[in-house]
Amino acid sequence: MTEPVPVRLSVRPHPRGAAGGAGGAASSAVMPLEGPLVDRYGRVHNDLRISVTDRCNLRCVYCMPEEGLSFLPQRDLLTFEEIVRLARVARGLGITAVRLTGGEPLVRKGLADLVGGLAELGFDDLAMTTNGTELAPVASKLAAAGLRRVNISCDSLDPERFAAIRRRGDLTVVLQAMDAAEAAGLTPLKVNVVLLRGQNDDEILDFAAFARRTGRIVRFIEFMPLDAEGKWERAQLVPGREVFDRIAAVWPLVALSQSSGSAPAERFVFADGEGEIGLISSVTEPFCGTCDRLRLTADGGLRNCLFSDDERTVRDLLRHGGTDAEVARHFRESVWAKFPGHGINEPGFLSPARSMSMIGG
Ligand code: SAM
Ligand code: SF4
Repeated sequence: MTEPVPVRLSVRPHPRGAAGGAGGAASSAVMPLEGPLVDRYGRVHNDLRISVTDRCNLRCVYCMPEEGLSFLPQRDLLTFEEIVRLARVARGLGITAVRLTGGEPLVRKGLADLVGGLAELGFDDLAMTTNGTELAPVASKLAAAGLRRVNISCDSLDPERFAAIRRRGDLTVVLQAMDAAEAAGLTPLKVNVVLLRGQNDDEILDFAAFARRTGRIVRFIEFMPLDAEGKWERAQLVPGREVFDRIAAVWPLVALSQSSGSAPAERFVFADGEGEIGLISSVTEPFCGTCDRLRLTADGGLRNCLFSDDERTVRDLLRHGGTDAEVARHFRESVWAKFPGHGINEPGFLSPARSMSMIGG
């Protein structure tokens, strides 16, 4: 196998603009072949989101159509061995945090085996985002295998409304999953809430009270144009600023200085010390300028942004004798090709061809 050589890539203006994106001009036109995973705007990437399946047992209105999607055949999914190999290469490139996601990661059988394989690689953080429906029975097994913490999605504290938004599933089961996660030590426990105007935005204070009462970190997420049905409308999202104002009017909030400047959530604690919330304002206050994330789809596509169609498969390389050096180069090229910003707020923005559950949120 020949040694990789530096490639020159033309720096073209981002067609969707750089609003909210990496500030300033591209730093260099030569992709580095060693050192951290860096893009041409100087953003160092150390967070890898790994989707283990595009399948899901729920059909959330903001994500998947009621009838489901055309799911990937089993043979197209990366095997656990392939995922661990890619994660090992990524570790060598400076990835320090891994999050498992999907689809619903826990519909993939034997996930604890994958967690064990990843844990051996020694990441600083190994987490999972789940809808919580299948978590309770396996929480302690996952923790024993090396999972550190979980984010559990839960969009309503009202059982009927929960069922209406997620279309399937049961709030009680998800609340039990939160208890099980805490009992297993999968903490700090974060609860993801996608707010939809007119559907659950009247629960903002209920969720704030829940955060205060339970100590769970509730993160309010703006609805993003990543639903498979393409029905997203700006009017449906609830801006993070509004969430802040409504909560702070009742319980004053204090901003936390970020431990990681790249964390998507703006974090706030209640001034009286009773808990924490986060605001993920991806649309109204994009954080692209500090984005350090890279995604691996369930079928082995490397994606440098949720909103970009730039996806480079590494699966075929793995299955046809590719070396680790070649795989590493795919990682570097994917990161290097990253646009400065997602461009949602630019004229002519188009949602990516693959929606949230197919990419891995
Ligand atoms: N199935 C798991 C779950 O729901 O937690 C993990 C995958 S899901 C795609 C990851 C996160 O993305 C969840 O918190 C979900 O609520 C969120 N999500 C899905 N579609 C979204 C959208 N269109 N806008 C904002 N967040 C979305
Ligand atoms: Fe499934 Fe998660 Fe999408 Fe809901 S948000 S349909 S639980 S993948």
